[in-house]
Amino acid sequence: MNQTTGVGLLGLGVVGSAVANAIIDRHRLEDPSISLNVAAAVVRDLDRTRAVDLDRSIISTDPDSVIINHEVGIVVELMGGENPAFDYITAALKAGKHVVTANKEVMCKRGSELLATAAENNVQLLYEASVAGGIPIIGPLMNDLAANTIQSVRGIINGTTNFILTKMAHEGADFDDVLAEAQGLGYAESDPTADVDGFDALYKISVLARLAYHTEVPVDVIHREGIRGVHAKDFRYASELGFTIKLLAVAQANRESGLLARVHPALIPLTVPMASVNGVLNAVEVEGDLVGPLWFQGPGAGPDPTASAVMGDILRIASGTVSSGSPTAAPEPFKIASMSDHTCKYYLRLTASDRPGVLANVAKVLGDADISINSVLQKDTDIENGHADLVIMTHPAREANMQDAVSAINDLDTVLRLDSLLRVETYAE
Ligand code: NAP
Repeated sequence: MNQTTGVGLLGLGVVGSAVANAIIDRHRLEDPSISLNVAAAVVRDLDRTRAVDLDRSIISTDPDSVIINHEVGIVVELMGGENPAFDYITAALKAGKHVVTANKEVMCKRGSELLATAAENNVQLLYEASVAGGIPIIGPLMNDLAANTIQSVRGIINGTTNFILTKMAHEGADFDDVLAEAQGLGYAESDPTADVDGFDALYKISVLARLAYHTEVPVDVIHREGIRGVHAKDFRYASELGFTIKLLAVAQANRESGLLARVHPALIPLTVPMASVNGVLNAVEVEGDLVGPLWFQGPGAGPDPTASAVMGDILRIASGTVSSGSPTAAPEPFKIASMSDHTCKYYLRLTASDRPGVLANVAKVLGDADISINSVLQKDTDIENGHADLVIMTHPAREANMQDAVSAINDLDTVLRLDSLLRVETYAE
């Protein structure tokens, strides 16, 4: 006869309810190999209707009803945010409870402290659901790929922005219209900042980079740009040039140049698999020296896919298949590289006067910054106002040089506006 492990839920919202339902469904099995029950749950508002049928006597607003409950062996934090999640997780670990969380923000900002507290108290802290929802990516980086030197981790790890960019690409729609639609469908929050300004992807790539490179990658060293500056026109021109636009989160490192983590919209060739990751799907590419390139794709959010990842962690702990104790000794940390040294091709879209010599002016400014032009398109000529779109693709250039050139381009009196500056992601030929 198996012993039942009591699970205490901090949070009973979208994911918490799905996890509770998965535990209840499992309990109904004739002879589950691992037996679980929901012993207690903590919420903010006791009167809210829940998407799970739990005995109301086990739901409370008092965090101690989970954290120091003797019937709880595993605490599952599904509230979100840095605080009070950090305090509750810390208290649970110190009380000798194993913890599972889906919270990327707390694992990004306070993950090292929490993992150290777990090790000191000889308990587990697992967080598979914190990045890319249902896709197993933390476990592979932590366990299966441990023998590899990781060259890069690159992904589409925010479903909301991918939904918006996919709609813009396929329907020629504007950002504001698609954002409103995403909000109506429940894919975007009423305050969309965390998603569209790249914070959510930033937290997640920080978590992945720490795992892949055994180096702290705090949020303030990660380059972050969101998608508000991407326009419908850019998809049209990018497509003519053989590209689409995605919000990428990338961490790459080697001993010479150091570790660079960045989140920004990028042109990617239509021929690479990442270009076909559409809608709310997520995907992560990992390149390891032994294994080569790996590809993970699937639902990056949603109650059941996220519950799948949370339940995987719960079952691993309950079955005793995770080793307890300190993590393996970390190799020497990488130095953090500066975004200014990043080198890639660039896409520029300018509104310029439609008269001779304009391109020569722009080419001179770029040339002065040591940037050469690969191709130029002149589009959407507005004869009445004497304007045209100038779309320029450069050869690879350093970020610092491009930023210098941008200032000089903005000073040209033949250029009305620099409308877009997007990086072109580099892929092996
Ligand atoms: P949610 O629907 O907003 O649920 C949050 C739950 O936490 C609610 O039950 C809320 O109580 C409770 N809560 C919040 N603050 C609390 C506090 N101070 N004290 C007690 N209870 C508190 O959020 P969610 O979508 O389930 O997300 C939960 C976590 O999973 C987050 O870290 C999120 O980033 C992560 N995650 C979510 C998804 C997804 O698809 N939704 C995917 C991957 C990861 P009330 O219900 O009473 O308000």
